Amino acid sequence: MIVPTRSVLALALFVTLTFATTQRTAYGSSNSAPWLDAYREAAARLIGEALSDTFAWRRLSVLTDTIGHRLSGSPQLDRAIQWAVDEMKRDGLENVHTEPVIVPKWIRGAESAEIVEPAHHSIVMLGLGGSVATPPEGIEAELMVARSFEELDANASRANGAIVLLNVPFTTYNETVRFRSSGASRAGRHGARALLVRSIGPAGLRLPHTGALQYAADAPKIPAAAIAAEDADRLQRMADRLSAEAPGAKAGGSRIVVRLKMEAHFEPDVESANIVGEIRGRERPDEVVVVSGHLDSWDVGAGATDDGGGCIVTWEALRMMKKLNLRPRRTVRIVLWTNEENGGRGGLAYRDRHRSELGRHVMMLESDGGVFQPNGFGFTGSDRARRTVTEIATLLRGIGADDIGPAGGGADIGPSVLEAKIPSMSLDVDGSKYFLIHHTPADTVDKIDPVDMAKCAAAVAVMAYVVADMPQRLGE
Ligand SMILES: [Zn+2]
Repeated sequence: MIVPTRSVLALALFVTLTFATTQRTAYGSSNSAPWLDAYREAAARLIGEALSDTFAWRRLSVLTDTIGHRLSGSPQLDRAIQWAVDEMKRDGLENVHTEPVIVPKWIRGAESAEIVEPAHHSIVMLGLGGSVATPPEGIEAELMVARSFEELDANASRANGAIVLLNVPFTTYNETVRFRSSGASRAGRHGARALLVRSIGPAGLRLPHTGALQYAADAPKIPAAAIAAEDADRLQRMADRLSAEAPGAKAGGSRIVVRLKMEAHFEPDVESANIVGEIRGRERPDEVVVVSGHLDSWDVGAGATDDGGGCIVTWEALRMMKKLNLRPRRTVRIVLWTNEENGGRGGLAYRDRHRSELGRHVMMLESDGGVFQPNGFGFTGSDRARRTVTEIATLLRGIGADDIGPAGGGADIGPSVLEAKIPSMSLDVDGSKYFLIHHTPADTVDKIDPVDMAKCAAAVAVMAYVVADMPQRLGE
């Protein structure tokens, strides 16, 4: 990806504003609510401000290039928190502060995996977050490959004493993430000594995808790592040839032996923080619209798509309101969450700390699905509120972000939304590239297009501004 020149940005702006104008002339107010007319100018200014500059992308590149990845408990996350506080103050946001959260501190340490029989080959791997270590000399054992939990269970005796590879091709994240999160306990119950899991993501360019595992209380804790799809397929082919007794399959021996070494461990919990900044409401400052992303990331790549981009585009909503002197009726609050990836404690701490004011949270939005071309928003709330946000989204037709999907939410806003039944939204974007780089060393800022990112910022800004400013509370 090359950063677009000024002329490309100018063109994007021209197209957007022209399109918005055409829409208005072509349809008048007949296909949209008359009350929205009061917001057309503010929406056009916010969209114009976002698209006139690559500010969001440049800010994200500072975060991801200079500070880098930001796992809970790491010095990088501490630096990122301080940086965000300083930058929010420089933007002129109000009530900028941190709210302490105690977070787990998991350290990956050195790690490696290799095939040692029938011949030496390295395996591209990443330990799973929360995994225990192997002994210092590693675990060396015969490999057992299973294509499903059912195949693993049906061959429990072969799993006993083995290193198990769960090789389930990626379909969707929701369908396949369970092999990463609960595979270690499933294999551990059968006496497996370690788990390798095919990375949860589409086959790409031999990338391992990390992510959290959860050990069941009643199963032995065995070390677990994700391996690249290509390595999983290679091991599958080797195992298939051995079991089929294919000609020459036993060259070098009649079994596959793998060695796994991991130093992964927990250190005592440490203090981290959610970051809060606001544009205080001019009439009803106690009523709050929250926009948010999570500042922590995994400890590989740079946490650009997951979720530095989500942090920056939601923060942009407030920066641009401030810059354009748009102060809505209600307060708009940015929250940058800590510890989404391996604990979710930022979201829980916010719910507990803000419990008494959750009833005055008008809407909460989280952006954690990437900042590619925006389609609109997912929304969960009453039918009446859905009609309103669907009307507001027509202001985003010019940038293609006017769709309101059936459900919206996020891991960090979840606890508060659930507790106080707060209408919730997620930024919906073109998701075709997200899982290619999710939790990998390739999650870097070059995967993100500055114009896409500017459109995401514009979409969040317009939605948050109108919801915060409209006379009636959302849903009333
Ligand atoms: Zn995320």
